[in-house]
Amino acid sequence: MNADFDKLIRILEAERADSYRDRMVIGGLDQFLNVWLGANQAISEPTTRNLVDRVATLLREYAQKSVSDRAYAVQESLEALRIREPKSNADRQRRLVQPSLRTRTEGAVQPGKSKHREQSGPTLQSPVSLLPGTGTALARRLGRLGVHTIEDVLYFFPRRYDDFSHLKTIDRLWYGEEATIVGVVQEARTQQTRRGIRLIRVVIGDGTGLIEAVWFNQPYLLRRLTPGRRLVLSGKVEQYLGRLTLQSPQWEPWKDELLHTARLVPVYPLTEGLSARRLRTLAKSVVERWASSVGDSLPSPLRQSYNLIDASTAIRQIHFPDDADTLAKARRRLCFEEFLLIQLGVLRQRDVWRQQPSRPMVVDRAMVEAFVSALPFTLTTAQRRVLQEISADLQQSYPMSRLLQGDVGSGKTVVALAAMLIAVANGMQAVIMAPTEILAEQHFRTVTTMLQEVGQRVRDATDADFFSGVQIGWLTGSLGQADKEEQRRQIAAGEVGIVVGTHALIQEGVIFRDLGLAIVDEQHRFGVAQRAALRQKGYNPHMLVMSATPIPRTLALTVYGDLDLSVIDELPPHRPRIITKWLAPAEREQAYAFLRAQVQKGRQAFVICPLIEESERVEAPAAVNEHHRLQDKVFPDLRLGLLHGRMPSADKEQVMTRFRARDYDVLVTTPVVEVGIDVPNATVMLVEGADRFGLAQLHQFRGRVGRGRDQSYCLLLADSPSLGGEQRLKIIEETQDGFVLAEEDLRLRGPGEFFGTRQSGLPDLKVAKSGDVRILEEVRQAAQDLIGQDPGLAQPGHQLLAQKVRKFWGLETDLS
Ligand code: ADP
Ligand code: MG
Repeated sequence: MNADFDKLIRILEAERADSYRDRMVIGGLDQFLNVWLGANQAISEPTTRNLVDRVATLLREYAQKSVSDRAYAVQESLEALRIREPKSNADRQRRLVQPSLRTRTEGAVQPGKSKHREQSGPTLQSPVSLLPGTGTALARRLGRLGVHTIEDVLYFFPRRYDDFSHLKTIDRLWYGEEATIVGVVQEARTQQTRRGIRLIRVVIGDGTGLIEAVWFNQPYLLRRLTPGRRLVLSGKVEQYLGRLTLQSPQWEPWKDELLHTARLVPVYPLTEGLSARRLRTLAKSVVERWASSVGDSLPSPLRQSYNLIDASTAIRQIHFPDDADTLAKARRRLCFEEFLLIQLGVLRQRDVWRQQPSRPMVVDRAMVEAFVSALPFTLTTAQRRVLQEISADLQQSYPMSRLLQGDVGSGKTVVALAAMLIAVANGMQAVIMAPTEILAEQHFRTVTTMLQEVGQRVRDATDADFFSGVQIGWLTGSLGQADKEEQRRQIAAGEVGIVVGTHALIQEGVIFRDLGLAIVDEQHRFGVAQRAALRQKGYNPHMLVMSATPIPRTLALTVYGDLDLSVIDELPPHRPRIITKWLAPAEREQAYAFLRAQVQKGRQAFVICPLIEESERVEAPAAVNEHHRLQDKVFPDLRLGLLHGRMPSADKEQVMTRFRARDYDVLVTTPVVEVGIDVPNATVMLVEGADRFGLAQLHQFRGRVGRGRDQSYCLLLADSPSLGGEQRLKIIEETQDGFVLAEEDLRLRGPGEFFGTRQSGLPDLKVAKSGDVRILEEVRQAAQDLIGQDPGLAQPGHQLLAQKVRKFWGLETDLS
């Protein structure tokens, strides 16, 4: 009996390409492995048995592992699986020393397998541990940076560059400048300071003068910086006791080609135990030896028409640029490529989706009109238009795949409900999923009350029966086991027409009797894997993704290019403008006084703690402190609630419920936690450290107030905003329109802020994050031209590109 290793290898490779997020198989790798192990239980042949057991041990409890442990487990498993016979390190090294011998013997036996690295020395896909001088420890550290293969090293780009390209003589150095000098060590000594720091003081001369270079606590330098050695040193020129010095400069022995110093020096992201020097040296040797082996995925006619340099040159230059100009060209080329991979991936996804059959629904216009006219308000023109677009999609015989964008409060839920009613009227089920329990609960409440109201107000008796007769299911992760079972049963039996819940709905083994429409209320991109999971829940249900984060059109067309776009670009009338004020630090007391006055009027307020970093681990304690401070020192007489992302979800729920019930006057919360809640009585949003947030985020915070009838206020506090911070605060003070703000945000900060966040849901981007958004337009054109000529990218000149697209999107695995 033979184990099916190939499938496992494919999945692990996809997992690696997807940065170990465990999204490659439904139910996670653990589940797949259980099945796989079950299937391989009977294997008794010892080598294979060993291998199966080793992989099982490595990957055990994958879901619980940290990302670095996952990377390690996957890497080691892949290694073991590819070799297919356990080999000691010594064996492996011997093999490398004698590659030709091996190729000869094995080549004769298995001619078809020559592409495997074991036979012919390392390839781009070989693990870094096969590089000369790279042991397991170094390999593991690189693994932590996501660098596993030789190719990964090539694509591990510098974070930034230090410009040390201006060589100077010592007599021409200026205090404060970054400079590079070449000189000879005159004298080197160490000195202990009173604070116990060991200084290494080295005097360098170049014939025009002397300068002292100083390092701290690196005594080993004395052995290397011996008098008479010629060095290149780069760093900032400082002053010490009235004399110029170089403090902790970069240095290296003088050679003809200078790697660390006299040039634009690449600065790589670091990890513990891996020095900048070490990484640069590694990058240098890998780039020199391997950059030329990289195939060019961009067909040359395309490179010509868009003025792009070739891949090998681009890789060489992005690591070790000759000058700023070539660096820009390298960036442009790699950025273009990355955007193209995104664009081709989404276009392909769109095609795949469109080729699926789906059941067209019949849209009962009279019913929709009855619903709309029984609402307590009139739909806006934009809401009507969007509902029209959705209705048209639902009648098609391929599944709808639509993104509905609308600012906070623009009224997406009503439109969603109308669409769900169409499905129910067709005898199908509809589901709406929210990212958090709080939001799901809110949807549940809205849907229930709206249907009740409409049922009471509608004139026609049949319609009334229909609206009040719609059964609504409720399923989230926190339901008790018995309730969950009961909900599942009702969903499977088709007893409920509309189901509201969290994304847990697609994970929890829920089976629908007949799912016709799935709506995802989304803060970030709904991934390919989730879509595949959803598709299994129904016969290619129509799908609507709703987003409250306005995204500029160019970006939407790229990142969400697989979806059709509907926009509600109009707020319901008579919404009072939220008064937004950017306050000086000295006005903090006034802000507090204002907040108190509002509370005394019976209103409520939010306080957002400053952004520290995108991690609840750090932010939660900060919020706890701020809550204490405000409660003890500022508002001892008010009732303050605290909400942060590290609280158990039941506690969060409780705090929210109490805030809504007015048990708290003020809710202190972290920026990371999603306060996507509707509390119409809240009229003040106070944001601390407001200069540190992006426009989009400030706008989201502001959207938490102004949901009721009362005049609402957004108060922004910023201690010492940077120029950019000031610019943002000015814009947010003046602008209410989320789409205008999104465009401004993009203009001010570039696409990185968007691509960098989990909201993009994109695979890890290497260059495009800092790319120029104008390239996006060019790339869209290029992608459309390519697909137009060769839809499947099957022509010989396009295959490498097709392969890269699959790899980028982690599509090497069969997801269905
Ligand atoms: P969002 O787009 O943020 O999800 P909601 O659907 O929650 O917005 O709507 C916000 C509020 O506006 C709700 O209370 C809803 O009932 C109300 N609303 C929706 N459409 C209209 C409209 N056309 N006129 C007046 N109020 C509306
Ligand atoms: Mg909403």
